[in-house]
Amino acid sequence: MNTIITKLRKFYLAGMAKTVELRLSQAQEQNMSHQELLELLLEDEKVNREDNRRIRLHQGAKLPFVKHLSDFDFTFQPSIKKGYIIDLTTNAYIPRAENILFIGPPGVGKSHLSVSLGLKALAMGYTVLFTTVWDMITNLQQSRANYTYKQKVETYVKPDLLILDELGYRTMAETTVEDFFTIISKRYEKKPTIITSNRDISTWDKIFFDKTLTGAIIDRLLHHCHTFVITGESYRFQNRQKNT
Ligand code: ADP
Ligand code: MG
Repeated sequence: MNTIITKLRKFYLAGMAKTVELRLSQAQEQNMSHQELLELLLEDEKVNREDNRRIRLHQGAKLPFVKHLSDFDFTFQPSIKKGYIIDLTTNAYIPRAENILFIGPPGVGKSHLSVSLGLKALAMGYTVLFTTVWDMITNLQQSRANYTYKQKVETYVKPDLLILDELGYRTMAETTVEDFFTIISKRYEKKPTIITSNRDISTWDKIFFDKTLTGAIIDRLLHHCHTFVITGESYRFQNRQKNT
């Protein structure tokens, strides 16, 4: 049995290797035909590969936490139309490369909703990458120093869905705005991006300095975009009050 398992592993049939012992004794007990046994083993291999892919996709997404839409209390945040969010869970916006923008003060659920939509996309087998805007532009800047810039740009252009959290929380340097623009324009009309921000779009020139660049970024982001402006109270604040 050990040589069979070793050989299966050598041929990258880990799913079969995991179950072959069990399946063989099951086949004996149940008088299974060779064909039935082979089918079972192949199915085990398929399931194992699918599980591995799902795990890889989840790890690659770098979600900061796991929270589903079912954990979101829409009655607490009436400024978010539940129906519109539910529509997005079909993931139809992904092949259409439509962006999603969540704007609102801290604690109203912008990151939560983004993560939930990220999970929906992962469940359909799409690749997702979650990052804060700050981490992305810092990474891009650092990559210039060791000549991996092109590769890093690809990291942010490649995912089927990119989630950029916390736009406008920290001041950007002028060179980093160009990097931000590069990512947005490379994804434009090809792949969707979800962005969360605590700043109203009318004040984005304060984030991006340059008026022309601000216009170019907003144009591309908003051309095909589902925008949610959340006006409610912070959920964190509500919880703190409840606990005191
Ligand atoms: P933001 O990104 O807008 O600052 P978060 O999404 O991080 O806010 O939300 C803050 C915390 O409150 C998170 O733990 C989130 O899961 C929770 N939260 C926010 N809004 C809701 C809501 N309407 N229902 C359930 N949990 C919520
Ligand atoms: Mg947040």
